[in-house]
Order: sequence, then C-alpha cells, then structure tokens
Amino acid sequence: MPDLAATLETIVDDMRRETERGAVADYIPELAKIDPRKFGVAVALADGRVAAAGDCDEPFSIQSVSKVFALTLALGKIGDALWRRVGREPSGNAFNSIIQLEYERGVPRNPFINAGAIVVTDAILAGHKPREAIGMILRFARELAGADSVVIDGAVAKSESETGFRNVALAAYMKSFGNLLNPVDMTMGVYFHQCAIAMSCRQLARAGGYLAAHGRQFDGHRVVTPEAARRINALMLTCGHYAASGDFAFRVGIPGKSGVGGGVLATVPGVASIAVWSPGLNAAGNSLLGTLALERLTHAMDWSIFGD
Ligand code: GLN
Repeated sequence: MPDLAATLETIVDDMRRETERGAVADYIPELAKIDPRKFGVAVALADGRVAAAGDCDEPFSIQSVSKVFALTLALGKIGDALWRRVGREPSGNAFNSIIQLEYERGVPRNPFINAGAIVVTDAILAGHKPREAIGMILRFARELAGADSVVIDGAVAKSESETGFRNVALAAYMKSFGNLLNPVDMTMGVYFHQCAIAMSCRQLARAGGYLAAHGRQFDGHRVVTPEAARRINALMLTCGHYAASGDFAFRVGIPGKSGVGGGVLATVPGVASIAVWSPGLNAAGNSLLGTLALERLTHAMDWSIFGD
C-alpha cells in the first residue's frame, strides 16, 4: 500500500496549485466570507491511526454533511417508520429543488436532499422542544467526533435563518401534504442550526468512523446496527452528491456526502473514514477540489469499492 501520509501531502500540494477552485456558496451570506484557498484532508483508519494534511484542524461549516448524522439519529429514534415519510432514490435534481415534491405528493426522494433532510430533522424534533433537539444533534456530533470543541456557528445559523426562504418553502409545502409533524418555523430552526455545525477535517473523519466499521466507532463504541451503517453508506453513494451522485461514484467510487461549506465525508468500508474540505463548489453544489482530491486519493490507495 502506498504511504498514506505522503499521498496526502502530495494531494495538498497539488490542490494548492489549482487555479480553478469553484465558487464559494454565497446564498448563505456568512459562507461567502470563507477563503477559497483553504484546503484540508484527514483520513481516520479502522486501526485507529489518523493521517491529515493542509488545513485539517480548521473548523468549517459542515452544512449538508450533517444530514448523515441526523439520519443516523432519526433511524435510531423511529427506525424503519422513517421510510414512510422519505424515499431512497436519487433525485437527479438540485439539493434545494421543489419540483418533485408536487407530483410525489410531499414525500421527498431521499434523506440527503434538503426536503428529505427537513423531514428527518422533523422526526428528531417530534416530542421535544427545538432547543432540546438542537442539543441532541450537537451532543451526538460531539460524541462521534470525540471532541467537545465541536460547536454550532451561531452567525451561520442566523445568516441562513434570515435568508433560507426556499428551505422554508420546502417545509411549508410538505406540511400541506401532512408530511411535517411540527410547526414549520420550529423544524426549520432546528434544521438551520444542524447545518451550522462546525468541525475540522480531523474531527469529521473521526465522526464518520462508524460508517466504515459496521456501525461501531473505531474505539469499539456502538453507534448503530451494521444494517443501518450499510444502508446509510448505500444512500451516500447513490444520493450523497445530489444531481452529481453518479459522477461522484464514477470518479471516486466510494460513498460520500457533500455540503455547501465545501466539506465531504466519505467512507471506505472496512478501511477508513475520510474528510476533505475545499470551500469552492462546482455547478452541482459539491466541493470542486474536494471531489478531485478524493478521486486522486482513492485511485492512489486503491480504495474504490468497485475494484482497481
Ligand atoms: N444549509 C444548506 C441549505 O439548506 C445545506 C445545503 C447543502 O449543504 N447542500 O441550503
């Protein structure tokens, strides 16, 4: 196996030199302030070792990567009943598209597009106050990352609460079909805070360990059943990059979930959990250099789940 640390250093050097870096998300004003030259990567191996390079210790807004952790929590809370409210098919549409919701009667295609993630958050919120639900999600993220320093970035949450009209529209539309249990403003308050969780690549790679190790963190702590971990990976592979999920599978060959903060969490089943961060996005809203870096990494390490 090639040397992982050296491979990461080469990737960081190559990515620093790239001039085509994509565009930082500016529809959330607070995210528009992030320096597009940032680049970090971390790999947590199943044997407990961690290799990391670049801006790997700088916290960033994980945004939709949080959908993986929210789904994990919701499955733990209500199990398969969740699948009555959200589907398991790729959408082929933008992450914030409303178009399918009308003809599919308020049931989102999958838990990783915004509409689906809003339903998942709504399921976590049921029976709690918004403040408690936000606390549960943050505690879970901290526990997974093994770091109490993981926080919710209040400025990002506020920025999105003030401008997230399209997400509010998705929630209101699903409410009209009876697929939202709580008041729209309550569910969206929790959703915006969940998206504003900030973590470093090193923390995020560690947080995703259970997906690579049959539902247990690398230290042995059980998070979910092996079946749930397997299914979440399947959804990450098929739906984790919105309308570019096929392209990600084609190029990178492992399950991955992106966020508009420029982060990607990816799993090499049985082997490693990977986090990468580069704030510039491609046209589908996924990290441009994050995807390229993962493509280089899985190729160099022979990590595609589809063979060499
Ligand atoms: N908070 C973002 C939104 O709802 C998350 C989207 C994303 O990361 N793709 O628009």
